[in-house]
Amino acid sequence: VQALLLTHAHAGHYLGLGHLGKEGLNVRGLPVHCTARMAAFLGANRPFSDLVDGGSIRPVVVAPSEPVRLAPGLVAVPEPVPHRDDGSDTVAWVLETSRARALYMPDIDVLDARVEALVASADLALVDGTFFDAGELGNDGRVVPHPPVRGSLGRLARAAAGGTRIVLTHINHTNPLCDPGSPEAREVERAGMAVARDGMALDL
Ligand SMILES: [Zn+2]
Ligand SMILES: [Zn+2]
Repeated sequence: VQALLLTHAHAGHYLGLGHLGKEGLNVRGLPVHCTARMAAFLGANRPFSDLVDGGSIRPVVVAPSEPVRLAPGLVAVPEPVPHRDDGSDTVAWVLETSRARALYMPDIDVLDARVEALVASADLALVDGTFFDAGELGNDGRVVPHPPVRGSLGRLARAAAGGTRIVLTHINHTNPLCDPGSPEAREVERAGMAVARDGMALDL
């Protein structure tokens, strides 16, 4: 691993950094690209601050929509997205090579016009598929808002028809898409989209 890109400070998206320290992989100076608020969060909270202070990781602050050159021929762009910003702000990451453009967007509260445009601009888009229906956590979707897949399938149909390969990710344990044999999974397939699975490799 030569660099990490962080989206935001919700548990599933940064706790893994804990494995990088000297008790684990013992990396040295690994660049971790993130927003200023995310970097401040890491610098202020143990055990992540230990990783920063001890030189295991090196937070690299990125500006909204400003490209970051990761390697020759590989650029990453952090795009702000609407999400409940508890410990940090939230970005999606666009990865660009000379051949293709990929979007990684695991967490959004709503699928608004700007988000739709981000999806449509990509050749490959990994999109928030947390819940199939809004009521899955026993609330009406206001406490943990995510765009329900049932609605996203229609909203993203134009992007899919326009050539964007859409892969739903960040699937919650309550989501019937966890079962590849479910009727809901077939509905996603019929819409020309896919569900991310463990071990899936995506070529750019
Ligand atoms: Zn989140
Ligand atoms: Zn999340």
